[in-house]
Amino acid sequence: MDYVNGPGRNHLFVPGPVNIPDQIIRAMNRNNEDYRSPAIPAMTKILLEDVKKIFKTESGTPFLIPTTGTGAWESALTNTLSPGDRIVSFLIGQFSLLWIDQQQRLNFNVDVIESEWGQGANLDILASKLAEDTAHTIKAICIVHNETATGVTNNLATVRKILDHYNHPALFVVDGVSSICALDFRMDEWGVDVALTGSQKALSLPTGIGIVCASPKALEASKTAKSVRVFFDWKDYLKVYKLGTYWPYTPSIHLLYGLRAALDLIFEEGLENVFARHARLAKATRLAMEAWGLKNCTQKEEWYSDTVTAVLVPPNIDSSEIVRRAWKRYNLSLGLGLNKVAGKVFRIGHLGNLNELQLLGCLAGVEMVLKDVGYPVKLGSGVGAACAYLQNTTPLIPSRI
Ligand code: PLP
Repeated sequence: MDYVNGPGRNHLFVPGPVNIPDQIIRAMNRNNEDYRSPAIPAMTKILLEDVKKIFKTESGTPFLIPTTGTGAWESALTNTLSPGDRIVSFLIGQFSLLWIDQQQRLNFNVDVIESEWGQGANLDILASKLAEDTAHTIKAICIVHNETATGVTNNLATVRKILDHYNHPALFVVDGVSSICALDFRMDEWGVDVALTGSQKALSLPTGIGIVCASPKALEASKTAKSVRVFFDWKDYLKVYKLGTYWPYTPSIHLLYGLRAALDLIFEEGLENVFARHARLAKATRLAMEAWGLKNCTQKEEWYSDTVTAVLVPPNIDSSEIVRRAWKRYNLSLGLGLNKVAGKVFRIGHLGNLNELQLLGCLAGVEMVLKDVGYPVKLGSGVGAACAYLQNTTPLIPSRI
């Protein structure tokens, strides 16, 4: 399969899985070991404490499950809800669509609030549903913090305000797969009951750990929730946490070492600096997009995502051709448009362990591909706009000050 190799590095700009830094690759380059020895439980204990920091929770209980984001969804739902429970879920793009499909297949009664793709969750409709629901038939609100397909970030603080305004006890369940560790996420402050992410996104690890964090209220709900769960049962984890052995089955040992290295990198940079870096790279990407004369799929600034930008292309251009050519000619991996926006958008992922000059490489590649497909772009326009902004705003590297 020589044809997949290109000279130099692949420029990986899909919005997950993302680049894995050398420090993480090296930390995972090791033999298997006995997870029942004292070493793995000791490491796990500290990892569980440290992982709470990326959720900004003190009261939450984390689970490091050998799974992907989809499994983390299932863990969140089946541990807290019973078949037939009414849940309110927002449909705003491909990942919220897939989650809703899972919710329906798990036999929940899903009350879907749909928005045009490119818009955020319609919180006015949420408010009216909660206002009407004086009998508290709604058991959970499920929301994707950052819809990776359209580059839309929802405002979770507002969801909490609305729940509090109506004094509604529904569980607040959040998919933070493409947000946690890149966008500010405040589990305790926003009263999130279950939050989840996947290792291959902002943590910059390989795919394979679904991190789920449960509030005390969610743990309480899990005692009476009747959904069938076996592999994902929090009870099995809680039992071994108490015993101090930490694992109900074989953990992904290499990923645990990787997670240790990932958290060390994030803490060394500083979580707030990580958020600021994501905001800076996202802004530079949007400035480049504007300089190319292209529009954001995300319709309002309040929803702009700092982890992924979905760029709309003119109707005479097929965005899949842009993605295909970028990979074939420039060794640049961009995100395809998915489902309703297939052919209409391409996505630039700017999340994880990534810096300014890497992003500029991607933006230069996009410019060349745009020219390849016949879009009248002025070469250097987007790169110039991004450079001008980054030159003014890039701080010294925190660990080198
Ligand atoms: N949720 C969001 C927001 C995602 O972006 C993704 C994947 O990209 C998923 C869930 C599903 O995660 P996974 O593919 O790891 O199962």
